[in-house]
Amino acid sequence: MIPRVIPYGRQDIRDDDVAAVAAVLHSDWLTQGPAVPRFEEAVAARCGATHAVAVNSATSALHLACISLDLKSGDHLWTTPNTFVASANCGRYCGATVDFVDIDRDSLNLDPAALAAKLERADKAGKLPKVVVAVDFAGQSCDMTAIRALADRYGFRIIEDASHAIGGRYQGQPVGNGRHADITVFSFHPVKIITTGEGGMALCNDAALAERMARLRSHGIRRDAAIQAAEGSWYYEQSELGFNYRMTDMQAALGLSQLVRLDEYVAARHRLADRYDHLLAGLPLQTPWRDPHAESAWHLYVIRLEDSARRRAVFEHLRAAGIGVNVHYIPVHLQPDYRRLGFAPGDYPVAEDYYARAITLPLYPGLSDADQDRVVAELRTALA
Ligand SMILES: *Cc1c(COP(=O)(O)O)cnc(C)c1O
Repeated sequence: MIPRVIPYGRQDIRDDDVAAVAAVLHSDWLTQGPAVPRFEEAVAARCGATHAVAVNSATSALHLACISLDLKSGDHLWTTPNTFVASANCGRYCGATVDFVDIDRDSLNLDPAALAAKLERADKAGKLPKVVVAVDFAGQSCDMTAIRALADRYGFRIIEDASHAIGGRYQGQPVGNGRHADITVFSFHPVKIITTGEGGMALCNDAALAERMARLRSHGIRRDAAIQAAEGSWYYEQSELGFNYRMTDMQAALGLSQLVRLDEYVAARHRLADRYDHLLAGLPLQTPWRDPHAESAWHLYVIRLEDSARRRAVFEHLRAAGIGVNVHYIPVHLQPDYRRLGFAPGDYPVAEDYYARAITLPLYPGLSDADQDRVVAELRTALA
């Protein structure tokens, strides 16, 4: 018998969500309509930001964030190699040069000491970054205080890619409040903390940045009363080249409905993460580091095997047993499309060593204790 597959992540959709989407389907608006600003206001209020711009993916939000911070050809964008490719690709969409900073061995996030050293060298060479994309890996906040201090000293802007981290807290405050980052981005892909199917959002505390991102998401077009007064009420104006990155009202209604359960979801993830820590004690592996200054949203539960040579066999044993393990992340600089730009193995040794040992175990609010026990039992067998 083929065992039932336990995925590494899974959305939680309830009758309330279905009803919210159905109500939109029976309304006058399907594309961006009244539900979108309601969702934006609800997320902004929940996270303590003054502005939020909903779009069709976090990838689009990262792109709009880069444009609104004036990232252009000839500029430099730096990020972590331990992330999804989108955190780096956004710089290349703007024609900027992308480079990486190695990660901290404990947090697995961009290492502020490595960032400081690289900034000092870049300063001397006249090649300082305009934007640094700080990724809250697995839902765990970066050392945002240290990164902010470096941003103030060297004059770069911070995009916090919090695709994993909605519902997390840093120094007691919600992720997304913009105390440290210029723009924070969330993803609502189904494996993330809350979902809209596809979807993303950019939060900030700067009205001009938010206005520009909102315009760029819809072709760079303005149709406000001031410009219509001169020409007529049909009039609109493309002021710069934009895109169709709009979120639909169906998606926004689903997001609003999911947002109600954000705390419940994060609490369930915390409980399961604590339970994994307990169940995995004594095995030849490292469980996730706990930051005393932040509360992770626990998007991912990643273990590191003591013996990297066993990773492939352990991974394949688990997959064969119906455990939907995954690996986050293949270091971005090792992708063929980045090697072509000159990156090579050995460039970011901490991220590469981490990658060689990493396995992501299933973690989502609907994971039962019995299924979690099955994951751990199979892992024990694989490691025996
Ligand atoms: C999922 C993810 C993205 C992209 O999100 P989409 O909404 O799928 O575009 C970007 N960055 C990180 C770190 C992610 O995990």
